[in-house]
Amino acid sequence: MMTPPFPKRLATLASALAGVLLACGPSPAKDACGPKALGTSRIAVIDGSQKLALGLQTYPQTLALGDHEVVLTFDDGPSANTSAVLDALEEECVRATFFLIGRNAAALPKLVRRELSDGHTVGHHSMTHPALTLRSMSESAAKEDIARGFQAVDKAAYGAGDAQPRTPFFRFPGFADTPALVSWLQSRGIAVFGTDLWASDWQQTTPQAELDLILGRLERVRKGVILFHDPRPSTAKMMPDFLRELKKRGYKIVHMVPGEGPTAVQNAGPGWTSTTEAIIAKTLSHHHDSTRQRTRPGGGLRARQPPAAPSPSETEREPAN
Ligand SMILES: [Zn+2]
Repeated sequence: MMTPPFPKRLATLASALAGVLLACGPSPAKDACGPKALGTSRIAVIDGSQKLALGLQTYPQTLALGDHEVVLTFDDGPSANTSAVLDALEEECVRATFFLIGRNAAALPKLVRRELSDGHTVGHHSMTHPALTLRSMSESAAKEDIARGFQAVDKAAYGAGDAQPRTPFFRFPGFADTPALVSWLQSRGIAVFGTDLWASDWQQTTPQAELDLILGRLERVRKGVILFHDPRPSTAKMMPDFLRELKKRGYKIVHMVPGEGPTAVQNAGPGWTSTTEAIIAKTLSHHHDSTRQRTRPGGGLRARQPPAAPSPSETEREPAN
């Protein structure tokens, strides 16, 4: 059924798709963009002015996707393994969304610029990815960490950063949001992302085990926004096989880009509950217990120094499903 905004949306889609096709044209891997490649089948325009919070593991709403449509997202980069992930995506002419940690972007700006020039969307994931999550910080400190992340990523990507990010996409580290921070982001037109399914690649695993796990989960729901971590070696190694399997099984890639909506969303079914909330509560209470045991007189609660190589938050543990 045609509705008034639909022709406008079609026009947006057509011009966005033309952009994708043009982006494929001059690429050195243009032969890979033929019918044998997985490719990028369509664009989903994300309009932050709609006050979006998307991803069924955390929010009761997600991006509207058809059967066998998937969105690929990658958190916590860039890192040394990001090039391999970008090579795999390029080979199949697939466009994805990267949620970057600000300090990693500042350390590896060339990879940020490659993500952009390869046609991917570059979103935000805080400056420091605090081990105890943004939720355990004061509201002002959390806002500062988020804002510094916007600036660091945009400086790496475009040469200059502003208070307002160029791409208004944000994902909370460990999905540990707060109502105040979500409202603050949404009031600034920044879309908040959870995810629909994940590869559990924050755990040590083999590429084959990760491939089997994510394909098994995907085949149960047959669509959705998928979360990976590009710094993880297992993810970088399995990505070529994963993309080939998607093609073989008839999946289509949807690429999220910021723009004027309407953004089509889909509500969760009855009985929906947050998966991540229970995980966060368990992790934070465990962390506070172990911190109490470790604390010496005068020590106090401090955020641990994060490891040199970016690693996913502790709160991003095995899902219940
Ligand atoms: Zn993360």
